[in-house]
Amino acid sequence: MLSDEALRANVAAVEARIAAACHRAGRARDTVQLVAVTKKQPVEVLRLAYGLGLRHFGENYAQELRDKHEALADCAGLRWHAIGPVQPKNAKYVAKAAHVFHALERLEVAQELSRRRTGAPLVCFIEVNVAGEASKAGLAPDAVRGFLAQVSALPNLEVTGLMCMPPLEDDPERVRPAFRQLAALAKSLGLAHLSMGSTTDFEVAIEEGATLVRVGTALLGARPA
Ligand SMILES: *Cc1c(COP(=O)(O)O)cnc(C)c1O
Repeated sequence: MLSDEALRANVAAVEARIAAACHRAGRARDTVQLVAVTKKQPVEVLRLAYGLGLRHFGENYAQELRDKHEALADCAGLRWHAIGPVQPKNAKYVAKAAHVFHALERLEVAQELSRRRTGAPLVCFIEVNVAGEASKAGLAPDAVRGFLAQVSALPNLEVTGLMCMPPLEDDPERVRPAFRQLAALAKSLGLAHLSMGSTTDFEVAIEEGATLVRVGTALLGARPA
């Protein structure tokens, strides 16, 4: 398992890269929220990360989110981000455990989340398939405006931004146009937040306006199989 020292070094390195990207972009560091992507990592690793001050954790799978939310119920101030698409039947777990949902793309799921949510509204990002990849989740860019109008009418949800998961590229510069496109779309819709960028490309994402970056491997190492 990842040692406390290794994690400490990883967190410091990612922090330095975020700060440098903010500096290049002329942005204040506090305009970017780091979400540690903890999917498939054991609860002990999440506890280590919590001990080092990380408070925003991202999980892809609704049942895993449910279980870890329960296991870490004693950790005050944790904020859970559900970052993967969810089936309608599992939306109840996201509605209960998550503070933020990054992968809104189906009206049926939005309705279920709205119905199940109690307390503070669930902050949502609409996932956009900017590169039009057949294998990827997310709405086509030209479908976002209509979908936003539909989900904005639902109680208990608060759509604040757009999210994308562009193709993996060896050269992060190749992802820049997709990030730029997402930023332009969000602006045209009056949405202030952008969830974009992971281990290979979070610096480019910050330069293009990301307000949340979702970083797993660079912080926690390779995920267990
Ligand atoms: C796994 C995952 C990430 C993190 O990926 P890394 O390459 O490990 O940083 C970010 N966003 C989503 C939606 C993911 O599924």
